[in-house]
Amino acid sequence: MKSKFFEKTKNFFKRMFKKVDGVLFPANIKCLGCGIDLPEKRDIEICDDCLKLLEPITENKCCTLCGTSLKMANLCPHCKENKREFNIARSAYRYNEFMAGLIKRYKYNNQPYMCATFAHMLSQKYKEIGFDVDCVIPVPISKQRKRQRGYNQSELIAKIFAEENHLPLILDVLLKDKETEHQADLNYEDRQKNIVGSFKVKNKQKIAGKNVLIIDDVFTTGATTSACAKVLKKAKVQSVSVLCVASTSILSQSQNSKVKSEKIKISAYVENQ
Ligand SMILES: [Zn+2]
Ligand SMILES: [Zn+2]
Repeated sequence: MKSKFFEKTKNFFKRMFKKVDGVLFPANIKCLGCGIDLPEKRDIEICDDCLKLLEPITENKCCTLCGTSLKMANLCPHCKENKREFNIARSAYRYNEFMAGLIKRYKYNNQPYMCATFAHMLSQKYKEIGFDVDCVIPVPISKQRKRQRGYNQSELIAKIFAEENHLPLILDVLLKDKETEHQADLNYEDRQKNIVGSFKVKNKQKIAGKNVLIIDDVFTTGATTSACAKVLKKAKVQSVSVLCVASTSILSQSQNSKVKSEKIKISAYVENQ
């Protein structure tokens, strides 16, 4: 009897300590950049040192239409030469070596949990620029690609972003029918024609007259988001804004030496994942 009571008491305290321990010392949250333990829970799960490697794009140094990083506020060559179907696009950060490392791990190393950090990055940018939108639509990927990857990276980001900003998330309107081949030799116009054909719109009544916000992870030439905007506008949406985590067009301009010196450390970490 005595030993049974003793065992029960011991187990009770063991459980209690486990609970208390879990509250006081939650499972360690690691920096998504370098992998060190973070001292506390934060929206953007990146340590102070790695945060310095992020290069935010500011309004006074970007294309006034597509948000690509520039030396001053102006129209970028892509926007000067091509018709953009979206009304405005912005990206939170430059797609530098550090950001490329993060996004590649998110997309290709099966680390969907990273979506929360990207969503918080977008929320910060969204509040900063003050877009006026009614609903959120992520750039879709084909069923085939979703099967391969297991998830649509933009959809996961958009889900958290929409919740955080109290906006409806619409997943059954803009769909990608087929995979577009990577045709690097095509010019912007031909590439866009090619991409437009791969998207389709269903349930048009859900978006007619709405101000739509398209969400994507990376903004490259803007051909994809512009193609999405084109099919949405055909379906009578009022306006299309675009918000992306990072914009690639300035990659060649990025000469941040600190970023380069961190590259080895980061790639070593990526390989160990
Ligand atoms: Zn770090
Ligand atoms: Zn532009």
